[in-house]
Amino acid sequence: MTNNNNEEVIEELKRIVKQKGLKYTEQREIVLDILINAEDHLSAEDVYNQIKTKYSDSNIGIATVYRALGFLEEVNLITSIAFGTEGKKYESNAKSHHDHLICTSCGKIVEFLDDEIEKRQDRIAKKNKFKITSHSMQLYGTCKDCQEEK
Ligand SMILES: [Zn+2]
Ligand SMILES: [Zn+2]
Repeated sequence: MTNNNNEEVIEELKRIVKQKGLKYTEQREIVLDILINAEDHLSAEDVYNQIKTKYSDSNIGIATVYRALGFLEEVNLITSIAFGTEGKKYESNAKSHHDHLICTSCGKIVEFLDDEIEKRQDRIAKKNKFKITSHSMQLYGTCKDCQEEK
């Protein structure tokens, strides 16, 4: 469900920026574009490096990347996943729902979707007369490679 969705996400960004009365800047769109097209979860440095390759004539600094990421997260177009003490990786919210296994040692992130877990959550919510609007599950630990290294 990626491609035709991408333009809609960019349009959504334009709407939000306008609604907030902000000036439209290309930087936010470039950062969002990188994340919409990313297969993986990306750190700010990853986004910065991809901009340097994909948009080589733009001169966006790392500080601008951080600011754009902060903005995009605030308006709910992207989500960040924290690992370790200060590591953070980002992904587009346009991706279909999934949960995460996160290695706190190297930052590796594995996505999964388990029908049984999804259904159980619905059942728990129903039992408590709770209406779920969203959920995120993050399982922290160490990946296979990091377990072997010690
Ligand atoms: Zn690891
Ligand atoms: Zn993910």
